[in-house]
Order: sequence, then C-alpha cells, then structure tokens
Amino acid sequence: MKIYNTLTKKKEEFIPLEEGKVRMYVCGPTVYNYIHIGNARPMIVFDSLRRYLEYKGYEVNFVSNFTDVDDKIIKKAIEEGVSANEISERYIKEFRTDAEGLNVLPATYNPKATEEIDGMVDMISTLIEKGHAYEKNGTVYFRTRSFEEYGKLSKKNIDELEAGSRIAVSEEKEDPMDFVLWKPKKEGEPYWTSPWSDGRPGWHIECSVMSKKYLGEQIDIHAGGEDLVFPHHENEIAQSEACNGKQFAKYWMHNAFLNIDNKKMSKSQDNFFTVREISEKYSLQVLRFFMLSAHYRSPINFNADLMEASKNGLDRILTATYNLEHLLEAAASNEITQAETQIIAEIDELNEKFDAAMEDDLNTADAISAIFEIVKVANSKVSSDNSKELIRNVLDRILKLSDILGIKAEKEEGLLDEEIEQLIQDRQNARKNKDFAKSDEIRNLLLEKGIILEDTREGVRWKRA
Ligand code: AMP
Ligand code: ZN
Repeated sequence: MKIYNTLTKKKEEFIPLEEGKVRMYVCGPTVYNYIHIGNARPMIVFDSLRRYLEYKGYEVNFVSNFTDVDDKIIKKAIEEGVSANEISERYIKEFRTDAEGLNVLPATYNPKATEEIDGMVDMISTLIEKGHAYEKNGTVYFRTRSFEEYGKLSKKNIDELEAGSRIAVSEEKEDPMDFVLWKPKKEGEPYWTSPWSDGRPGWHIECSVMSKKYLGEQIDIHAGGEDLVFPHHENEIAQSEACNGKQFAKYWMHNAFLNIDNKKMSKSQDNFFTVREISEKYSLQVLRFFMLSAHYRSPINFNADLMEASKNGLDRILTATYNLEHLLEAAASNEITQAETQIIAEIDELNEKFDAAMEDDLNTADAISAIFEIVKVANSKVSSDNSKELIRNVLDRILKLSDILGIKAEKEEGLLDEEIEQLIQDRQNARKNKDFAKSDEIRNLLLEKGIILEDTREGVRWKRA
C-alpha cells in the first residue's frame, strides 16, 4: 500500500516496523463539547485506514487519546459551576455515542491525559537531564534549538519562524520558539504535584508520552487533521526524538479540512454543526459516506445538496443489497452456470479496482465508485433466475467492501406501519392509566427506530426521521 507521508512529502510504500503489525496513533479530541463535523473527518478517515489494514491481515494496535485537561475544559467547568472532570467525563460519553453512530471502531486504547501524568513528569525529567528542557519559576520549557531537526515535518525554518514571532513573548524563555512542557496552576485550576510546581502538563507532551506507553518508542503511523502539523506534531517529534534518541513515527498522515459552503466552519460565522445536530436529520451513515466520497487530502465542502446526494448514493447501495437478499430467497437453483462465472469474473475485477484505489493512499472516493459499479452489475444482470451461489457472491461482495469503509450496507430492520400504530395505541393507553414511565419508554423505543411522534389536537401523528 502507498501512503502519502507528510514528513517526506511523498507517497511511500507502507512497510511496518514489525511484520504483520501496525502501531497507529491518532490525536484525539479535547473533550469540552459535542464534536463538530470537522472533528468527524479524521475519525472516519483513519478508522477506514485501520479497517483496510485489518482486512489486509495486519494486527492493528490503534491508540487515540482524550485531552481531558485544558483551558477550554476549565473555562466551561467554571461557567457551569462543576468540576473539570465532570465536563470531560460528560463529553467523553457523548463522543462515544457519536463515534458509535459513525461506526468508528473503539480504539485498542483510549488513554486520558489526566491518568498519565506520572509518565509526563518522567519524560519531562529526562528531557531536563538531557539538556533539552529547563525550568523557570515552576514552568518547564522545551529548548527548541537543542533539537537540530526542528521543523522537519512542517518544513519550517526555525530562524524564519523566530523572525515572524511577536515580541510579546514571556521573558522567562531562553528563546521565543521554546514551548511549555509543564505550567504552574492558576487559582481554582486542577493540578498535580511535580518536582517543578503544582500544575499541569502542556498539550504536546501528552501525545509523546501516551504513544510511547501504549505503542513503544517507535510507531508506524501518527495521524490527525492538517492543522496539527504545526506546532503540535512538530513539537511531539522534538520531544519524543530528543528523549528516546530514535525516529518517532515512520509515516505522518494528515487529513485536509472540511468547510461549510466553501467557508471555514466557525461558531461566530453561524455555520457550525455538531455531529449530534446532523444525526437529527440524517443517519450518521450518510455523514460517513459523505466524508469518504472525497480523498482525505482534499478539502471537502459540506452543504445540504451534497448531503442529499450522499443520502441518495447510500440508498442505491442499500436498495441493491435489499433486493439481492430477496432474490436469494426467491432463487430456485444452487448450481452456478458458465454464464454466471463471467459475472463473477466481472465482480472480481471490480473488487480489484476497489483494492487498487485503497492501495493508492486510501483513495476512498474511487473505492466507492468501484462499489457503485458492482451495484450496477447487480441491478442489470442479477435476477431470481440466477443461482443462489451467484447472488450470494454479489451480495457478499457489496457487504464486505462497504464494511471495509465502515458503511453498513444492509437496511436496518425497520418497524412496519401497523407495528407503529399498535405501539402508539399502547402508549395512549399507558397515558390514560397515568403510567408515564411506560408511555415514555414506548416513545423512546419509537425514537430509537427513527419514528417521531407529534401530539396534535387531532391526536397523535407520526413520521419517519
Ligand atoms: P481538536 O479537538 O480541535 O483538537 O480537533 C480534533 C481533530 O479534528 C484534530 O485532528 C483536528 O485536526 C481535526 N479537525 C478540527 N477541525 C476540522 C475541520 N474543520 N476539518 C477536518 N478536521 C478537523
Ligand atoms: Zn497529539
């Protein structure tokens, strides 16, 4: 497989450090709010990469962190008058709900920064011992110029960076490019004790430490959105390589940004959507399908028309598998015919096209086109006159390839109209009997199945979400 490596700016053959195994780290969210649809892009893209590597037979150790101590979390905790921990735990739970809806596989490990402070203190101590970091008034800084290769990922030159940096730099630093590894607490902030001060770690050190603890000093793939290249990933490289004396990650992968109607998504522009908001209108499978219809290194534009187009695209696949399942029941013969082996050969070729697209730096856009071509073959050439073996082959192929992309290609078992009417009647009876627990239970059950109830003067109306 070829992967575009931000470090070398080239597509390179993927050769893992250890045969048959992949160690992969994806920078996770800062948990102070519901995730937005931009955050969903790296989740979906790198989950698809993981699924593809697993399909190829690799054992993938996939680590993604939660940044659960941060200024934004603390600010929100103060606003709500609760602890920072309560905020981060709440949004970790909400993150998991969204990840499940997006069909993102759970990570092998999901470490939280606040549970890894000892490791951070250790790494910072080593960096100080080796002359790569220094303490001033309880703050520890990384001595950026001590790491000669600084700038190798972002292709930035340290002297130019320094020339461009404002003078509004704290006097404590030896150099404006030095960055914080540990900072003392401010009044009311959560803190941990350390040899330097009661305080908390800087953001960059957490990924260097968690990656080392759960995956080892050297890993295969380190990934995230392109905004992380500088300074976050550049600083991670400096910390890890200065500490361990080894190359940190072999392949650095970055997804391009998602924009809204060709504009940067921002809360102040009123063009900001959480994944949760989208889930009220669409199945999150549609959002996943939408994200994968573009190559991960191209910017992707989000708007209502494009989401509708994705919904229709996904429906075409769902309808094909639905029909094939019915054909399978209706088909009489088991025996595959000579003519049918031709169709299987055609499907095999399209399967190869899918693989070739994925091998080429995870080209999910072309991989989806290959699935559509199989759907076309299914719609035009497969009927109940065919053998069960052929029908099963075509159906399995669509399901398997969709699954590699994390797309569930089977229609969810929905409720029939009569079943819905009956449940609504049961709910009305429960209400009459003042059994509100039961009536709520039925309403929630219907909601789970995508049925929305509306109490009107004429009675209860319902619609499918
Ligand atoms: P954050 O919580 O801001 O650190 O973001 C979590 C992940 O989402 C990082 O990998 C970011 O690079 C990525 N990300 C944030 N905004 C966008 C966006 N608009 N499009 C694509 N990726 C994004
Ligand atoms: Zn990180």
